[in-house]
Amino acid sequence: MIHEVMMSKKLTNDVRRMTRPANVAGKLFDVIIAGGGLCGIGAALALKNNPTLKKGERGGFNKILILERRLSPGWEVCSALSTDLGADNTFVTSVLKERLTSMGGLKNNRVDPPMFEFLLNALLEEKNIDILLCAHPMQVTVKGDLVTAIIAGTKSGEMSFGAKIFIDATEEALLWKQTGVPFTDNDPPPAARQAVFFNNIEQEITSPVLPGDFAEAKNIVIRPSVWQKEACAEFDIPSGSISSCRLATFSIISFIREKVPQLKDAIVTHTGFEPLPMDAVSCPNTGAESHPYFRNLFAAGLWAVPDTRKRQRSATLAGRIQIGEKAGMLTSNVRIKPVKPSGAELLSKPATAEADVVVAGGGTAGAIAAIAAARQNANVILIETSTVLGGIGTGGGIHGYCVGAPGGLQDEVDAAVEKVSPVFSGKHSAQGFHPEAKKFALEQMARDAGVQIIYSSLVVGVCEKKGRRIKRVIAATPSGRTVFSAKAFVDCTGDADIAVMAGAPFTIGRESDEVPHCYSQSGGHLDKNGNMEMINFDAGWADPFDAFDLTASRRKGLKCLEQRFPAQNRLLYIAPILGVRQSRQIAGDYRLTLADEILARRFEDCVGFMKTFYENHANDIENQSDEGVLWMWVLGNFFKPIGCEIPYRCMLPKNVEGLLVACRAVSVTMDAHYGFRMMRDLQRIGEAAGIAAAISARLGKTPRQLDVKLVQEQLKKTGALDEKFRPVPLIPENFRNDTSRLAETGEPKDIIYPLAISGKSAVPALLKILETAKPENKFLPAVALAMLKRKEAVRELVKNVVERNPARVQENGAAPRWKSAIVMLGRAGSPEALPALLGVLEDKNADADALIAALRAMGRIKNRKAVPMILKFLKRKDIPQIRKFQVSCAGVAPVEEDVLWQIELAAAEALAALGKPQPSIIRKYLDHPRSYVRRYAAKIKGT
Ligand SMILES: Cc1cc2nc3c(=O)[nH]c(=O)nc-3n(C[C@H](O)[C@H](O)[C@H](O)COP(=O)(O)OP(=O)(O)OC[C@H]3O[C@@H](n4cnc5c(N)ncnc54)[C@H](O)[C@@H]3O)c2cc1C
Repeated sequence: MIHEVMMSKKLTNDVRRMTRPANVAGKLFDVIIAGGGLCGIGAALALKNNPTLKKGERGGFNKILILERRLSPGWEVCSALSTDLGADNTFVTSVLKERLTSMGGLKNNRVDPPMFEFLLNALLEEKNIDILLCAHPMQVTVKGDLVTAIIAGTKSGEMSFGAKIFIDATEEALLWKQTGVPFTDNDPPPAARQAVFFNNIEQEITSPVLPGDFAEAKNIVIRPSVWQKEACAEFDIPSGSISSCRLATFSIISFIREKVPQLKDAIVTHTGFEPLPMDAVSCPNTGAESHPYFRNLFAAGLWAVPDTRKRQRSATLAGRIQIGEKAGMLTSNVRIKPVKPSGAELLSKPATAEADVVVAGGGTAGAIAAIAAARQNANVILIETSTVLGGIGTGGGIHGYCVGAPGGLQDEVDAAVEKVSPVFSGKHSAQGFHPEAKKFALEQMARDAGVQIIYSSLVVGVCEKKGRRIKRVIAATPSGRTVFSAKAFVDCTGDADIAVMAGAPFTIGRESDEVPHCYSQSGGHLDKNGNMEMINFDAGWADPFDAFDLTASRRKGLKCLEQRFPAQNRLLYIAPILGVRQSRQIAGDYRLTLADEILARRFEDCVGFMKTFYENHANDIENQSDEGVLWMWVLGNFFKPIGCEIPYRCMLPKNVEGLLVACRAVSVTMDAHYGFRMMRDLQRIGEAAGIAAAISARLGKTPRQLDVKLVQEQLKKTGALDEKFRPVPLIPENFRNDTSRLAETGEPKDIIYPLAISGKSAVPALLKILETAKPENKFLPAVALAMLKRKEAVRELVKNVVERNPARVQENGAAPRWKSAIVMLGRAGSPEALPALLGVLEDKNADADALIAALRAMGRIKNRKAVPMILKFLKRKDIPQIRKFQVSCAGVAPVEEDVLWQIELAAAEALAALGKPQPSIIRKYLDHPRSYVRRYAAKIKGT
């Protein structure tokens, strides 16, 4: 793949010292395949099942690992969306075709990319082939004439993977190049083929249409796809990079609409997330049948075919699979004794690049941060691990704003998106904004501003700090390990990767069990009118900063999609970026709270406004904070508009200089995060951070040393601080005047929250309300008193629990009173509540949430009488343990998760708090495959 920056080769001593592999994955594999494209898949499947071996002959390997930098294997189909499998049949293509046909995903040798991804996911599982996604092979270590390990950059940092045999199936020959084999670049660089999908075609296209060449686009061809009413246009851009291919789509779609009447009004639903190169970018000077020096390093890439014509013919999907298959068969007979990586040397030196400002992550916030910084005349490099700009909002398949305050540079982006949208939409529309229009508009604006974008590159380390100041970061790029220097850095990775690697403190998820907000694996769909809608249903929890958990989450998300979207309910595409709502939150110079949002607080260092609501997707109220339970599940304030000013200090991570964090990982509490995570919020802080980074670089100051007025000045110019966007306070300052009315009428409910967080001063008023209120109005003052840890609340709350009072304060999101009363009894902390809580533990009708709530409450009440009750509960054989997650789009069944782990660990936590720890329960979960389960177990072990 061609990338926009040429890097000079330079190495300094401190870089060599700092870039040692930080982490060793431990397990020794038989074979590691670097690159999970079709070559890698062909190799893996042939290795597992070599058809040339006769019966009884040894061959095949058990432990095979594929390292793939994208979130999908088979990138040529699943990311470039190339669909022509061709008529040739090799062993692997025959298997693929047979299975695809039975799924309904193949027609006339054309393949449907979502079905293909489902199939690969299933095949790898069936064949017991391991795959690590979002793992960028970067470097090799060697000993004598053997390669000992591959170092891959992942979201967990650098990891070293050892094996007996290594196959380089990367498109850039990344491992071979690391070993010093001389390569020559192809001149001119190869063309790249871009795919564009039209849907809702009025009149079917049954055979290829060739409208001719246009501008720089050659070989434009439109073919029918697997689906009725869909056609796929493909065209070649000479020397095409990801950027140039994306930028070409706009004018070529207009041209196609003009020339092909069937497509005049059709909607462009999706385009290839990256183009497919028609040849290798460079090839080894000598043939690549086997490595000239390292005995256990093999080649399985297009670049390994020495003959130019043959290579170009092999650039098809089937050709690539065949290359992999051949390599797999060749290596399946090789026997090599493994060598321990210890004492091995690291081959190759990192490339380097420098800029005034480096932005990591070109997502919702990062694309805008980079454009804003470049418009301040900074020289900006933007490093993005995927192949699109816009993050969750484009590549994540979530193309609609939900609350948030507009204003500033984001309005300009929205206007640009709107301007180009008709070309993409035809006579149809996309829910929210058109994601392709936004990808295009951001790419165009970034190019116009002079941003250098480096796609397919993951920031994996901070390699030099001066004191607390970051000077350089390491990224795994298609050129291998690369070191980027800058005067200021902006961390827009969504997960605060740079901040955390540099030593900033952070939290993960909820305080109770450290589980983050749930994630979705989104995709595209057509509604019954032929308009584009997003698929958004929660698939469970994910730790995106853990390489293995990230892989597991993607693969689980795919299975959820496959069950809900078989051929008859077809998916347009699978979003190439996982829909992660939250992972880490950094601890910054200020940590925004839910109270700030509800009370519309103002800050001297305001760099934006947020307008939001408490948009929490969790169904497990018992694991939320008490304040969150009060606001949402007691008061039913799900849709209540709240909002405040955004302080600049939230972007300054503690312990680190030279860095701004401007993404969903900004310094806010978990409760504040439910509201402060919408695209408009992130686009706002992206702009502020970009401006601040550019000014810092210009003045030679760190972002922390900067006078924030300079940033505010610029934000006023762009319209981001326009007063019209300021949120209106929800709760009047004189709210205490309404307490007697509340006692009489139960209204206004809005004053319960400020009273509950007011501390001692609110107690007399609340006691009076509780005493004088009608029976049906006593619940809210009791909850507020429980929040203030007053025992007077207990009788009313116990009554609600014992009666299993199903009433809700409001229908919108509130929980039945008896469930929120259980949580509040824990807060009040009185042993008087124990009999009612025991009643819940013994109740055969109580669901997992009520049970966990009761366990937690018992742990908080800290009375040892609860110990036998909990131990008896753990012996129950009929504990309900299924939780359903939320669905945010129509007609899709919710995902269910077995949460026995949560129930047992909550019980263990309560017992530990009561002085009766249960190491056997905790041990059971310390090795759990999901990292969030392990983390909760480890947390309890530590307490
Ligand atoms: C399922 C779901 C539904 C949502 N619904 C809505 C909605 O309806 N409306 C709304 O306004 N908001 C919605 N949101 C919230 C909103 O979309 C996100 O909070 C927001 O887009 C996050 O922006 P970000 O810039 O922090 O992260 P992202 O947009 O995820 O950007 C992070 C970028 O960094 C890249 N990256 C990650 N790590 C690295 C690294 N180490 N090096 C280089 N690059 C890296 C990623 O590839 C990505 O492009 C939703 C979110 C989700 C997940």
